[in-house]
Amino acid sequence: MENGVSPQPPPPAQESPAAPELETALSGTESAGAAATALQRHTCYDLLPVSYKVIVFDTSLPVKKALAALLQHGVQSAPLWDSNSMRFAGMLTDFINLIRHYYTNTSYDNALEEIEQLQISGLREIQQKMGLLRPRNIAIHPMQTLYEASKLLLKDHLHRLPLVDRVGNQETIVSVVTQYKILKYLAANAPAVTKLDTQLRDLGIGTFENLATATASTPLIEVLNLFIERKISAVPIVDEKGFVLDVYEKYDVLMLAREGAFYDLEMPVSEALVKRAPDFEGIHTCTMSDTLGQVLETIRRMPVHRFIVVEDNTLKGVVSLSDLLSYLINH
Ligand code: AMP
Repeated sequence: MENGVSPQPPPPAQESPAAPELETALSGTESAGAAATALQRHTCYDLLPVSYKVIVFDTSLPVKKALAALLQHGVQSAPLWDSNSMRFAGMLTDFINLIRHYYTNTSYDNALEEIEQLQISGLREIQQKMGLLRPRNIAIHPMQTLYEASKLLLKDHLHRLPLVDRVGNQETIVSVVTQYKILKYLAANAPAVTKLDTQLRDLGIGTFENLATATASTPLIEVLNLFIERKISAVPIVDEKGFVLDVYEKYDVLMLAREGAFYDLEMPVSEALVKRAPDFEGIHTCTMSDTLGQVLETIRRMPVHRFIVVEDNTLKGVVSLSDLLSYLINH
């Protein structure tokens, strides 16, 4: 985050019609390299729509209420505000480790009682003891470029990055920028990127070997362990022939945490999928012959968390948003 007095931000750009600079940057070359140039020319502030909401939790809020609010607003995590120091206090995230902590360290009754009373600040203390908190709270100033935000997201393996303004000693949480929002902004405002016509099979984007998968009967705890051990955000659920049946996502864990279902992590993942949040947006699949442009066009049109690559419904790979962003800023 930048220090000192921040410049007065310009009025936010609309997603449409296309921002002229982005058009110019891309229409001439139709190369992915132009996407990086475009991201260098625009700030995080440009991502903000005219009207939007920011969900911020005070660190004294009970964790249970925070979980309910996250689910109600369909977001995976939210920035925290410490009203004692009047400062941004990190992101509320990492419920998987909380669930694993209670599963291994305490009885169900104790866990229920503790969770009932746990404040976010208490959760942060547990996370700190477990060595799960980052040494510093990562944020970016709204006037830094989308390129800088992308680099930071990728370097720290983050899916979202809070925008925090600072004037003198006073901080304001402005919004949260995500990998999805950056890709969508690019796809919506730079039509040329949606015309990039190289097929995924020729681009080397995504993971196609040593995939972490589970079957419907895999115990949930094994899937949660895969999230942590493999540093991934989704595990495809396949049958014995490799047919994709579903995908268990990190977001699904929120529902589990709210329901207090952390006592039964031996349940098959298929059972946990039934508890999935009602606003589940579905799974996006693509094939190796889809082009980069087609994939970005899908991102422009609808919320996407990742693409599951299939051939005749059989799992071939995973193309995550971080894979796409990394390709676009490095080529
Ligand atoms: P993500 O957490 O979705 O940003 O993915 C991080 C990295 O892990 C990306 O390079 C993905 O291609 C890869 N990845 C995502 N899901 C899986 C999976 N189930 N098995 C193996 N690799 C994965």
